Amino acid sequence: MATKLFRSVILGAPASGKGTISSRIVKNFNLEHISSGDKLRQNIKNKTTIGVAVEKYLQSGQLVPDDLMVKFIYEEINEAANKPWLLDGFPRTLAQAESLWSLQKLDVVLNLVVPFEVIIERVKGRWIHLSSGRVYNTNFNAPKIPGKDDITGEDLVQRVDDQPEVVTKRLEEYEKLTKPVIDYYRKIGILQEFCGNTSDEIWPKVHDSLTTFMPPYTAAQKSRI
Ligand code: AMP
Repeated sequence: MATKLFRSVILGAPASGKGTISSRIVKNFNLEHISSGDKLRQNIKNKTTIGVAVEKYLQSGQLVPDDLMVKFIYEEINEAANKPWLLDGFPRTLAQAESLWSLQKLDVVLNLVVPFEVIIERVKGRWIHLSSGRVYNTNFNAPKIPGKDDITGEDLVQRVDDQPEVVTKRLEEYEKLTKPVIDYYRKIGILQEFCGNTSDEIWPKVHDSLTTFMPPYTAAQKSRI
């Protein structure tokens, strides 16, 4: 009999630490990480048919229409059919969640819950060195000289979309769109919520939850990754 492969989704607001937690999951568990945003950007870079069709949405920060997005993600899921996977960035709307469920039942949906005030504070402290992409945070990874890049000494800048008003708007939009998705999974009974102010606080809880579904890598396996 074929073994059932693990199927999961990770949800979390912008700057909630979803990227950090996802990368820790991949380092610790044998899982294929399918990030819809990364896959779309790869397609745009490679100028595939879908890449050309979605470019305008990503450039303007709009969501790709559901029908196009669902078709795209199904192809990605099919490619990973023989592996356990963690879907990240999809579903973003209730329609996407419903159509994913009709195609593929999930074992668990991990929802990272970080208070909005904490996210806004975190993003407020973020400074970037434009030419290298180096990112600092005055709260936990400050530059040696305030406002200056450690390596070049050049000025650091703040991204327009990291300004508190813009972040608040993005968080409100996220909540509006994602709440029905979260409610949907809660009703099905597969939602697990992980609350905390930092990724270090959230990570052990996610780790413990995932070990109930599959064994983590041994130290020897980890050193080979
Ligand atoms: P991300 O890297 O997850 O922030 O995604 C970057 C962009 O890709 C988004 O701003 C959307 O334009 C598009 N995108 C990614 N995932 C989805 C999705 N599930 N539904 C619609 N658009 C998406």
